[in-house]
Amino acid sequence: MTAPEQPEQEPSTSAPPPPPEQTDPEEDESLLLPALLLAYVVYRTWRGSHDSIPLGWRQVVRLLKLRDLIGRALAMVAARALERERVAAGRAGDELWMHTDVAVLAGVDAGLQAIAEALIWNDHHGPGSGGAASQSRSGTDTFIPDSAPTLLANLAAGAAMNGAVFAAASAAGWTGKRWITQQDNRVRDTHVALGKGKAVPLNQMFVSPSGSRLRFPRDPRAPLAERANCRCSLRIVRR
Ligand SMILES: [Zn+2]
Repeated sequence: MTAPEQPEQEPSTSAPPPPPEQTDPEEDESLLLPALLLAYVVYRTWRGSHDSIPLGWRQVVRLLKLRDLIGRALAMVAARALERERVAAGRAGDELWMHTDVAVLAGVDAGLQAIAEALIWNDHHGPGSGGAASQSRSGTDTFIPDSAPTLLANLAAGAAMNGAVFAAASAAGWTGKRWITQQDNRVRDTHVALGKGKAVPLNQMFVSPSGSRLRFPRDPRAPLAERANCRCSLRIVRR
């Protein structure tokens, strides 16, 4: 997978801790790694006897049984994000808690879509994209880089967290949202601009200076260039 033009990088160990209202993306991403590695093995095995991967993310989820493999881990990440948001919202957070089930389901779906879309993208852009069956062993071995598990975890965790919070806010009838960055010099320029913007109505899209439209940071429907290595999060506004 290629990096975006201005990738946001991992926070360095010398960086100050984020303010309390911000999440720890790395911890949530690490929760996904064991299940993601298993899913990747299943993907490689399946790919070894098929010429191409389907283009629809739901079909990929079904074929590779991704929901069985990683659904529980995604649900945990989504639930943790909802709990953080509930606590941050104080008493009004109970309105979010009432919609935990539907929000976790939405978060899991967003995470699964992020994983499946990344596999599809890789299959069509990576060095081994001619079809595993026609590739040499060394060719197929290089078609996802070493950083793939962490990149996949970043994409999937962000989609699950922000997707769940977005769904809870929608179900609770909350009306606004803000784009929250980590406020350091590693945030990509387009997200710096989004982070400086005012709250927007919940049902409107964030429009990046690149022209991409996102429901929330790391929205799996958005181009990879707006998502890879992103550490931004969604803050919802009651009214
Ligand atoms: Zn970002």
